[in-house]
Amino acid sequence: MSAFDLRLELIAAAEYFYKQGWMVGTAGNLSARLPDGSFWITASGKSKGNLNLTDFVKITPDGVVESLSEHLKPSAETTIHQSIYKLFPEAQACYHVHSIEANLVSRFVEGNTLLLPSLEMLKGFNIWQKNLNITLSIFPNHIRKTSQILPLWKSGNLKKL
Ligand SMILES: [Zn+2]
Repeated sequence: MSAFDLRLELIAAAEYFYKQGWMVGTAGNLSARLPDGSFWITASGKSKGNLNLTDFVKITPDGVVESLSEHLKPSAETTIHQSIYKLFPEAQACYHVHSIEANLVSRFVEGNTLLLPSLEMLKGFNIWQKNLNITLSIFPNHIRKTSQILPLWKSGNLKKL
């Protein structure tokens, strides 16, 4: 019996996000961690509304790219996924959408953190108190080294909880 292919979950999630308008065109990227610490991530330039099993690249725990084809490159934001897996060892998947709303909000931020209002969704991070001044880190998506992302990520206080 073979293990369930996590790429099927990523394909289904991507199709849902695409239909929501959160992954328009080739925007956004998804990954899922495998038991050995490697992860599958969507290849760059693929429409998220019509992915196939061959539209993914595997990244080893050491950061080595294992591409199924020389024409497939990992998402340009692979480093963000690597950083999240380092910060949150319990994380099994990363869904990085590009909603219009999130893009607009990130443009209105002064500095490198976004102060979140007392949102109902914070309970998902085990934050039940109101008015705690929870901040989310905002950083460019073109950074290529996890060592550069990790300190930026920690500038907000919504991190490992
Ligand atoms: Zn992005």
